[in-house]
Amino acid sequence: MFWNNSKNGRRFTGNSMRVSSGSLIELNGVTRQYETAAGPFTALRDVDLRIGAGEFVAVIGKSGSGKSTLLNMIAGIDRPTEGEIVVQGTPVHKLSEGQMAEWRGRNLGIIFQFFQLLPTLTVAENIMLPMEFAGLYAPKQRRARALELLELVDLVDQADKLPSALSGGQQQRVAIARALANDPPILVADEPTGNLDSKTSDAIFDLFERLALEGKTIVMVTHDVELAGRVGRAVTVVDGELVGEPAPGVLDIPAYIAPDYALAAR
Ligand code: ADP
Ligand code: MG
Repeated sequence: MFWNNSKNGRRFTGNSMRVSSGSLIELNGVTRQYETAAGPFTALRDVDLRIGAGEFVAVIGKSGSGKSTLLNMIAGIDRPTEGEIVVQGTPVHKLSEGQMAEWRGRNLGIIFQFFQLLPTLTVAENIMLPMEFAGLYAPKQRRARALELLELVDLVDQADKLPSALSGGQQQRVAIARALANDPPILVADEPTGNLDSKTSDAIFDLFERLALEGKTIVMVTHDVELAGRVGRAVTVVDGELVGEPAPGVLDIPAYIAPDYALAAR
């Protein structure tokens, strides 16, 4: 597979930072409190979650329930007030900002709802950027790798265009290629289809399914009940807490928990 290409960089292995963990992603008693003008607000409360290598997990819940906060904990974008987050044996909540950035660049690909491509760089350059930041792949190999990834998302003919010349769905595929740049084992996506029409969403989702089949571990926040139902596992966040997981493929969420979903599912 293309992402098994050998790398000339090293993975982050600060020895004192490694602890043993059976799961690829492990959250233990994670709480995130924000200080607001109205006083402290608990966005995540005592969350325990284990995700195994190769799992494709959907995170669902109402707007404001804490889904992004949860994802940002896993991605090391935000830190817990209490609890620990261990990803591939690395306690990410203990990393300094610099270590965190290095760790993230090599171990995790992040995909956002609004793509967040750099508008002044070409499509290929956007994908090469994470390789440059992480110092992975020889400079001469970077463009070739970007083109390989663009081939994977079926956009190799757009390599030298600016993102603004592409449709939303195409831009999201570029963002996925960028997330794959350093061949991370984990992809986290925050409502990646939230800004796309249903046909385009389907195509993006197909791509995630393919990546999961190829062995990527994927954690995806989604508002789309239908898409979430296609995933092996869905976890539901209600007011900052994880509630019981529905059986695979079944998303029968009571209206009192998530009226949006009960409505959308009709
Ligand atoms: P979701 O992604 O499920 O819509 P979020 O995780 O973004 O929800 O937010 C969960 C709750 O935490 C919301 O009520 C939000 O207003 C609050 N929140 C998120 N970030 C901050 C912050 N930096 N400061 C204060 N409150 C925040
Ligand atoms: Mg969100």
